[in-house]
Amino acid sequence: MGLKVVNGLKLKNLLALNILNLFLYGEFCPHTWAVHFPLASGKRQSPIDIPSGRGEAVNFSSGLAWTYDSDACDRITNTGHGWKLLVSGNGELWGGPLPSKFKLEQIHAHWGCTENEGSEHTVDGVAYPGEIHLVHWDSEKYSSFAEAANADGGLAVLGVFITVGDQAHDEIQKIVDALELIPNKDMTENLAKTVDPLKLLPESKAFWNYEGSLTTPPCLETVNWIVFKTPLTVSKEQISAFRALRAYAPEEDKPGDDEFGGQVVQNFRPPMPLCGRVVRDCC
Ligand SMILES: [Zn+2]
Repeated sequence: MGLKVVNGLKLKNLLALNILNLFLYGEFCPHTWAVHFPLASGKRQSPIDIPSGRGEAVNFSSGLAWTYDSDACDRITNTGHGWKLLVSGNGELWGGPLPSKFKLEQIHAHWGCTENEGSEHTVDGVAYPGEIHLVHWDSEKYSSFAEAANADGGLAVLGVFITVGDQAHDEIQKIVDALELIPNKDMTENLAKTVDPLKLLPESKAFWNYEGSLTTPPCLETVNWIVFKTPLTVSKEQISAFRALRAYAPEEDKPGDDEFGGQVVQNFRPPMPLCGRVVRDCC
């Protein structure tokens, strides 16, 4: 997940967050996050390597369900470490492992410099080329996203793996078309064509579920993860377009010593130790 949650953080960490924002996956790589954000070395961190076939089979009393306005996402922003769809319409997620109704906050993605890596979660040690995150918060128990992000189980994130195939994905193309409008960090534009969150979900509802964290600093351990088993297929050109985003603002100089040439070439955190956590298998 790529989130900036500031509630409950000390000033020192806030400053670190600003510094890290530009180089999150370069100079200050994920292995160093714990220097400023101790939770990053906690026992409930995400992502994880999912042990397929060795999860705890679970049948929840009600199935996982969702409803999204087809035009829910109408704006897009360059966060400096990727694109993020902003949500104006209604989106709700409930059932399955969730105790209450969760509201869609934003959607973003992670990818790698080659198609051999890029997803945050891996399955039996194997990475996908990318992963989309649909971030929701418990709007029954909490009054804001920031409050929920700091509360145990306050967030629920749907993870959708991205795989590369011959066909371009129509909904992803709406995002790709908008990227040239937001080349630099902090740029935000209206989408010419609104994005339907439903169309970013795979056909099969089978998923893995476990308790984890945000995958970017401050790495708060408040996320109920739901990772779909079936990937979404996009074209090679589409995922390549993601890598052209720039990690610096228009008024900033292109970073001279950045190994990625100032571009968001990769933005994933590698798997973290499971530390005895249960991974539920819900088919
Ligand atoms: Zn994410």
